Order: sequence, then structure tokens, then C-alpha cells
Amino acid sequence: MCKVIAVANQKGGVGKTTTAVNLGIGLAAEGNKVLLIDGDPQGSMTISLGYREPDRLEYTLSTLLSEVMEEKKLSITQTIIQHDEGVDLIPANIELSALEINLVNAMSREVMLRSIVEYLKAEYDYKYIIIDCMPSLGMLTINALACADSVLIPVQAAYLPVKGLEQLIKTIGRVQRRLNKDLCIEGILLTMVDARTNYARDISQLVIDTYSNHIGVFHTCIPLSVRSAEISAEGSSIYQYDPKGKAANAYRTLTEEVLDRG
Ligand code: ATP
Ligand code: MG
Repeated sequence: MCKVIAVANQKGGVGKTTTAVNLGIGLAAEGNKVLLIDGDPQGSMTISLGYREPDRLEYTLSTLLSEVMEEKKLSITQTIIQHDEGVDLIPANIELSALEINLVNAMSREVMLRSIVEYLKAEYDYKYIIIDCMPSLGMLTINALACADSVLIPVQAAYLPVKGLEQLIKTIGRVQRRLNKDLCIEGILLTMVDARTNYARDISQLVIDTYSNHIGVFHTCIPLSVRSAEISAEGSSIYQYDPKGKAANAYRTLTEEVLDRG
């Protein structure tokens, strides 16, 4: 069985990409075959895995999505990149933003990514596919939610996040009703938690009080860590960059929590 997890929040800079990369590499380190899909035209996931010039890549997610729209054969093998930390990657670059505009007029526009994921599930033995969403609730994020089994929602514990979360949860509900009735919420993940401040503690408690009953909040919080901020420029995971640090430990615990849920 393959589980598809979308990492989503329309708020920018909350730790989606960092979480998608380090959860993915964490799951691979535990012996699971993992595919990461970069669903953001900024290509942050692609860059953070060491492909510094994503705009030079010939085959990306937008290649595959165009092939779906044009009903062509998918160039999957040319597109998948094998990363040396044991995960596969479908990269993205700026072409994805033009593609998102074209999607708006396409037939079955919400389920284009689903055809790619269905193909991958049938042809490859991935245990986890993790999709890094862009910071919007546009067509690409809807595509990710429409093909995912669950959505993991990183929330930065540094501002009042509740309002933005309501909008995201409403969108998830709409996707559940119209496109993907089996979509679950994997949970809310508090990120960049500065345990030294009362403010971070208050926000964390507010999120737990508001959401732990009906949505679920991960027990693991990701601490604020300068090391985490540095890795996006390194092309490696937190486990390689700072294996004994608190962020690496937190991502290991998160990986265990996700594995425990099956
Ligand atoms: P976007 O919405 O632009 O896609 P994002 O939600 O994917 O952003 P990231 O790119 O993962 O967020 O993180 C935003 C910034 O915060 C990056 O510079 C990253 O290196 C840094 N960062 C991520 N996690 C932490 C952390 N735990 N502590 C400190 N900085 C972090
Ligand atoms: Mg990102």
C-alpha cells in the first residue's frame, strides 16, 4: 500500500518544504521507498535537495502535467531524480506557474495530478509519496488534495494562525465532498516553536485546545532552529547537516508518529 501525504498551508514560510523533505528522508531512512513531489513553481523542494537551478531542468512536474492534459505518454523515468539520501524526487520549476494557468481551462482540471499519482502507484512500489504544496489554495494545491490520502498542515507558532487555518480546513472539506471523500487530515504540526517565549507556548496551547479534538495535532513540535534555517541552502536534509541537533531529533520523532499511524 502506498500512502500519499500532501503538506499544505496557504500561509507562506511556515515550514512546509522543510517538513516535506525531512519527513520524506526520515521515512526513507526507516526503510521505506519514498517519492517526493515538488508542487511549487518556486521549486524550493527541488533547490533544497541540491538542484540549485531548477529552471534548467528539462523534465519536471509540469512536463508530466502537460502530458496528462495532452493525453500523451508520461515521461516518468526521465523526470524522477534519485537523491543520494535515499528518496526519489519529481522536481518543479517556474514552468509550473504557466501550467497552473492553463489548468484552469482544462477538462478534469482538479484531477490531473491524480492520474500521475495513480500511474506511479501502479508501476512503482513507493510506500509514501509526499507532495510539497505551494503557499496558495489554487489549482495545484487542489490537485494535491484531490489525490492525497491525507494532508499534513504545518503551522508556525509565531503568529495567530487560527484564521488562515479555518480557510484551509474549509477547502479540505470542499475537496472531501466533491473530489476525494477519503481525504483525511494527518494532523497539524507546530513548527518553529521557540520554547523560550510565552507567546509561542500560548499559540501552541491555543492550537492544541482548538484543534486536537476534531483534527488532531501532532505530539511532536518542530523547534525554532538556526540549523533548520541554514539547510535550505545546503542541498541536504537536517539529518546530514546537523544529525544530533534538536530539529533533526524532532523530525525523527515526527517520522515515528507518522509511521505509527500506518
Ligand atoms: P513557502 O510557503 O514559501 O513554500 P514553506 O512553508 O515551505 O514556505 P519553508 O521553506 O520550509 O516554508 O521554511 C521557511 C523558512 O524558514 C526557510 O528559510 C527555512 O529554512 C526556515 N525554517 C524552516 N524550519 C525552520 C525551523 N524549525 N527553525 C528555523 N527556521 C526554519
Ligand atoms: Mg515551500
